[in-house]
Amino acid sequence: KRQKKIQNDALVASILNKDITALSRAITLVESKNPKHAKDAKTIIKSCLPHANKSIRIGITGVPGVGKSTFIEAFGSHLTAIGKRVAVLAIDPSSSITKGSILGDKTRMEALVKDKNAFIRPSASGEALGGVARKTRETIILCEAAGFDIIIIETVGVGQSETTVHSMVDFFLLLKLAGAGDELQGIKRGIIEMADAIAINKADGDNLKPAKLAKVEFNRALHLYPEKSSHWQPTVTLCSALNNEGIDTIWNVIQEYIEMTKTNGFFDIKRQEQNKYWLIQTIEAQLKSNFFNKTEIKKALKQQLELIERNETTPFAAADYLLNL
Ligand code: GDP
Repeated sequence: KRQKKIQNDALVASILNKDITALSRAITLVESKNPKHAKDAKTIIKSCLPHANKSIRIGITGVPGVGKSTFIEAFGSHLTAIGKRVAVLAIDPSSSITKGSILGDKTRMEALVKDKNAFIRPSASGEALGGVARKTRETIILCEAAGFDIIIIETVGVGQSETTVHSMVDFFLLLKLAGAGDELQGIKRGIIEMADAIAINKADGDNLKPAKLAKVEFNRALHLYPEKSSHWQPTVTLCSALNNEGIDTIWNVIQEYIEMTKTNGFFDIKRQEQNKYWLIQTIEAQLKSNFFNKTEIKKALKQQLELIERNETTPFAAADYLLNL
């Protein structure tokens, strides 16, 4: 036991010392399904927590092909060039099916992978979104303790994952393309509402003109939404991740946002709200899994389903019965 404590303390000391190998090892513990590792992970996170919270957390979403990898490569390189240390994480709900469609293929971020001030970690695969989300939240803490100034969390703009990412970042950036309708891009209305900025990517060559038109359209659309509680007016910018254009503008927008929300207090309130949300989420998930994993419940649930099938009970009566067990 004492040996374990010495090991964990050493790992934490190395993380605080910005040792990337130690950071990777700690993340592997966080992602492990082995209960022994989970215990170590808990201890390590607790020791890292006082050193966390100091970064800017940026969520980036957009449909496959919009240019997320290319953008993060350009944006991340811009940040390290101005002296920031950048960690890139991913939440990939489809990774179990597509075997890591985002970040899995690290070669798409060639420069950033080689950059000693950048750290890229693909998402834990083969897990339900809830599990991945928890692990990402904990990984953020570890990265912050390791002195990363900017944490980028990438996700694909389909399904539930944007909501999950939105609930763990300070700033949410939506990448879009000009000329394709929202339905075509698989973007739900709710996502536009979550965005603090929209960047229309691939604004280069023949695409520049449609991109400029799209900017006007989006600006108009954004003004139709009610004011955000941050009082921030979401902005629309153009960029070409491929040609490295407009990347600095987006960083300026993010800095403006951070300055404004830190001044009006929203920045801290949002993080507190997010902590509250994750507390409740975690309790709900735990209660649910405890309940459904009980042998007694499994058996009774099967019986109640049969009764429902024969019209001998209602779903509500059956639920009452099961919950009272
Ligand atoms: P992701 O699926 O969202 O990660 O998209 P990728 O970064 O893999 O990019 C998809 C394709 O779009 C690649 O062939 C990129 O080279 C291309 N692409 C990305 N950004 C730009 C850009 O700004 N302009 C142009 N013309 N192509 C781009």
